[in-house]
Amino acid sequence: MTTIIDGKALAKSIREDVKKEVLNLTEKTGVSPHLVVILIGDDPASHSYVKAKEKACKNAGIRSTKLLREPNISQSQLLDLIGTLNRDDDVHGILVQLPLPKHIDENQVLLTIKKEKDVDGFHPLNIAALHMNEDGILPATPKGILTMLKSTNTPLKGKKAVVVGRSNIVGKPTAALLLKEHATVTIAHSRTEDLSYHTRDADILVAAAGRAKMITADMIKEGAVVIDVGVNRMDDRLVGDVDFEGLLGKAAFLTPVPGGVGPMTIASLLENTLACYKNLKGLARD
Ligand code: NAP
Repeated sequence: MTTIIDGKALAKSIREDVKKEVLNLTEKTGVSPHLVVILIGDDPASHSYVKAKEKACKNAGIRSTKLLREPNISQSQLLDLIGTLNRDDDVHGILVQLPLPKHIDENQVLLTIKKEKDVDGFHPLNIAALHMNEDGILPATPKGILTMLKSTNTPLKGKKAVVVGRSNIVGKPTAALLLKEHATVTIAHSRTEDLSYHTRDADILVAAAGRAKMITADMIKEGAVVIDVGVNRMDDRLVGDVDFEGLLGKAAFLTPVPGGVGPMTIASLLENTLACYKNLKGLARD
């Protein structure tokens, strides 16, 4: 039997917890958390992700400000804008929606965001903290994935985990988090030879390749926990990297797309915004 991990329900309970704390702290301090999102250009997917983030903030009592900029914004104009937000005490979180136009150096942008306001957890010092087992802001999607895995009560310690995908925002930090939980981790990517050899051995499989339904039932172990991160458009609907129907009955736990990792990413972003606000306002140890 396969248990579906309900990302929507799990995310809802996280959002409610965040809201309670936000309202409580806002009453205490007179200032609510404030997230600023910089959105460049008119990519429809980016606009719809930002819309979802704004709505979630509003529902949680977090102020959000969207700064729209033209795609021809120069690198120095963007860095200046981030500098201004870094210095603004009324801004507790800064998010630059990716991807950025080609002429902008993404690494330089992520490096410029003050690490204490880096709600996406992409600043090199936050990434270093993850690898050095120190406190820092975790990237939202991997954080959401770990919360989902923990919700299954499956022990991670000593288990074989395979992460398909090695991006800086999903694959690599997810692997680092699993390693921190004492799993034995393999990272697979587009050059991996005989992918099924690795995936069939996995107690925990995280699919984050962006290839529609590439993980089929014959590629997984009976009783595996499978987290599907992929979001792919297929025949006008969204599908994951996993052949969901095919895995039913073979996986022990499985996440749906939509309604799995996506809502958890947004819930984790709210948690990160609240954490940045608390740190910046000296409320973290209350
Ligand atoms: P990405 O930057 O394109 O990285 C994809 C990774 O998958 C790369 O490391 C690539 O290998 C690997 N890969 C591609 N084809 C493969 C194959 N056939 N076999 C094995 N590995 C393969 O993508 P991403 O940003 O990590 O996102 C991955 C997916 O998750 C996308 O569908 C994205 O839309 C989705 N996503 C969802 C959320 C959410 O909240 N639900 C958040 C972020 C991303 P190479 O490194 O060798 O090229």
